[in-house]
Parts: sequence; structure tokens; C-alpha cells
Amino acid sequence: MNMRQCCFGYALATSLSLIAICLGSPVCAADRPASPIAAPTPAKIFTKADYQRHIEELKKRLPNDGFSIVIQPPFVVIGDEPVDTVKRRSQQTVKWAVDHLKREYFSDDPTEIIDIWLFQDANSYEEHTATLYGKKPTTPYGFYSSSHNALYMNIATGGGTLVHEIVHPFMASNFPECPSWFNEGLASLYEQSAERDGRIIGQTNWRLRGLQSAIRKGDVPPFETLCQTTTREFYDKDKGTNYSQARYLCHYLQERDLLQKFYRTFRKNVATDPSGIESLKSVLGKRDLDEFKQKWEAEVLKLRFD
Ligand SMILES: [Zn+2]
Repeated sequence: MNMRQCCFGYALATSLSLIAICLGSPVCAADRPASPIAAPTPAKIFTKADYQRHIEELKKRLPNDGFSIVIQPPFVVIGDEPVDTVKRRSQQTVKWAVDHLKREYFSDDPTEIIDIWLFQDANSYEEHTATLYGKKPTTPYGFYSSSHNALYMNIATGGGTLVHEIVHPFMASNFPECPSWFNEGLASLYEQSAERDGRIIGQTNWRLRGLQSAIRKGDVPPFETLCQTTTREFYDKDKGTNYSQARYLCHYLQERDLLQKFYRTFRKNVATDPSGIESLKSVLGKRDLDEFKQKWEAEVLKLRFD
């Protein structure tokens, strides 16, 4: 587990203030999706009564009286920080990310109400995740469990991991065939996010340094290799660059205003191009991804994260 710290900053949609939060390495390896992923249930609009019923059930499972619950559709946020802090995180991080991600990519909400557990510190996170999830977390930061319809977060590590994890349930409901490389590339792009011209963007982050080092050593595999990794290969056979290569490909596309186009093209063509290689070539306007990789590597080496 990479323990380096990184920073997450985003400009709020509703104000001009800039908040910087620090967090650690977000690797959500727990509870990976089974492959192949089943077709999604059609999107459902949840009513106030649905949320109320959900909350009544949740109340029975609260670990203690220190937790408060905030409805932030399509999520319910549960936290053991002061209630005003839970409300602020619901508004400034969850709502902000959901609004911007939906505008950029996702038309359908998750098919179930998803719980976001925000634990105030490592002790609370580890103790209560073990009770609620049934086992101890394998990452100190947070993870999404599709089988529990829940995100479990140690919010003391910051909001970047939370935005990363919010991408996954939306990807599951909008692009269930999405392979792990793009699912994690897009999610990790927003670990450090900001707003530019009203749109969410991912900024450089701690994953850059290791990637630059691997590029200099010639250790980054061809894009065809990354794109063809199975879920198991992506997570379990990562030589250290799977997340960062995917993230900085997304960053490269974003900076050329091609990322949204790639998402849409890939999603449309996934039946005939499950890896995304042909969609990537098409969006880049290049037939030779090795030639593209040279250009991408040169661009990545110019990026800075201080
Ligand atoms: Zn992830």
C-alpha cells in the first residue's frame, strides 16, 4: 500500500471558496466487481417515502448515538462527526461531485440507495466497518462495496477518496461493461479535483511521481496491454502503474477536451470494442498507439505536482 499523502482541492459549485483537504492513497481494492458484470436494473427514481423507509432501517444499524444521517440523493450520508460537519460534507463534497459528474457523464442514478459512511477517524472507521461490512477494511482510506450498496470512508484522510469512490456506483449504473482500467482511471482522476469553466476536472496528484519514474525507466506497458487487462489482472498483477497510467491517460484526454467524448464513444461501442482500444484510437485520431504513447509520455514528463 502506498502511504504517501496527497492533497485534494476543489472549488465549490455554490461558492468561490477553495477548500484544500489532504488525503492518502486511494486504492479501492475491496469488494471488486465480479466479471462479467450483470446488466443493470433500469434506473429507478426514489421517492421521499423510499428514503424515509431506508433511514428507518438504517437507524436500527447505527453503531451508537453519535451518528447523524443526511439525505443527499442518490446517497444517504451517515457520519459520526458533528451534525453540521456531516451536512457540510454532504453538500460541499457529495452534492458537488454528484452534480458535476452527472453533468459530465452519468444520466442514470445508481439502482439502489447507496449509503456513504463517513467515520471521523481511523479507529471509528476500522471498528465500525468491521461490524457493518463484516470484515476489516484492507485500505485505510475508504472503499465502495457494490454488494452492500455502501461506501465506507475514513473521512479524516480527506475528501479525495470519497469523490473517487462516488464514481464507481455511477459507472456501475451507466456503463456496467466498463473494464477496470477505465473505471479506475476515471475515478482516480477525480481524487484531486477542481472546477474549470463550471466543469469538474482532475488535477495532477501524488500518482504522477511514480508514473514519471516508470516512464524514465521504460517500465510503462503499451496502452493495448493496459486496456486488455482483466479485472483480476488490473488489480492483482499491477506492476505499479495501472492506476497512474489509466489516470494520466484520462488527464491527457481531459486536457484536450476529449475525455467526455471518449467516455461516450467507448460506452456506445463497448459490445464490439470491450477493451476501448478502438474507441481510444478513434477519439485520438491515431491508428498507432505506440506512437501515441511516446507523445503521451513526453507530455506526462512535463507535468508537475508539488
Ligand atoms: Zn476505485
